[in-house]
Amino acid sequence: MWSKFGYLLGLVGLLALGGCQTTTSGGVVGAERSQLMLVSSQQLNQMASQSYAKLLADASRKGTLNRDHALLERVRAVASRIEPQTIAFRRDAPGWQWQVNVIASPELNAFCMPGGKIMFYSGLIQKLNLNDDEIAVVMGHEVSHALREHSREQVSQAVAAQAAIGIGAALLGLGQVSADIANAAYDTLIATKFSRTDESEADRMGLELTARSGYDPRAGITLWQKMMRADSGRAPEFLSSHPAEINRVRQIELLLPTVMPLYEATRRRG
Ligand SMILES: [Zn+2]
Repeated sequence: MWSKFGYLLGLVGLLALGGCQTTTSGGVVGAERSQLMLVSSQQLNQMASQSYAKLLADASRKGTLNRDHALLERVRAVASRIEPQTIAFRRDAPGWQWQVNVIASPELNAFCMPGGKIMFYSGLIQKLNLNDDEIAVVMGHEVSHALREHSREQVSQAVAAQAAIGIGAALLGLGQVSADIANAAYDTLIATKFSRTDESEADRMGLELTARSGYDPRAGITLWQKMMRADSGRAPEFLSSHPAEINRVRQIELLLPTVMPLYEATRRRG
């Protein structure tokens, strides 16, 4: 039978095994929250690569992969300006194996899997008639989830929660680990339901990336206006789990004085 003592023992073991750290430096918007990490970046990036490759293969077979070349070039142009700016948050990120693709689909959706695997659904850009600044805000937000390794954090929490209901011993050295991690990681990568804290971090960091890349961060406001007006058959990832959109617009407004100088400096450099 599970005991409180066992729980504590398990938890102490887990913290010794992985522990708290932070994935990024804070940037000007301050993203330095300590994170519980029990699985490695390498494990999760490998899993993301496989999931992404499968997604590309499925779309290719259906004839929906990168069908609109002009749209693909637009999205890749935005990505090519954002990628080098990720150095503001972590030194390794500009050297990631970035991939950027567009799936023809009415869905209002976009994401960036761990390690820099970006996907846009054409419906998001076409139905909401997004300009390049607004595409940059979405991409900055999604890329920030990957920079902060929010999926890895979620998987770690799932692993810790499973430990808390009785598999702590298995995690601490027996054979169960990889299967449990694989299941938790797969669920997380497919479901992409981030916490409110994660969303807030991604909004703030994304706005800084937008500005540093020379895209107008004020587009964050118009993007949200468009999304809130949108008749959402299926809400995009950044709307999915959160009723408090107004607060998020407010946060963007409050950050504009911090990030506008970065935008203006980039514009001046041409
Ligand atoms: Zn998000």
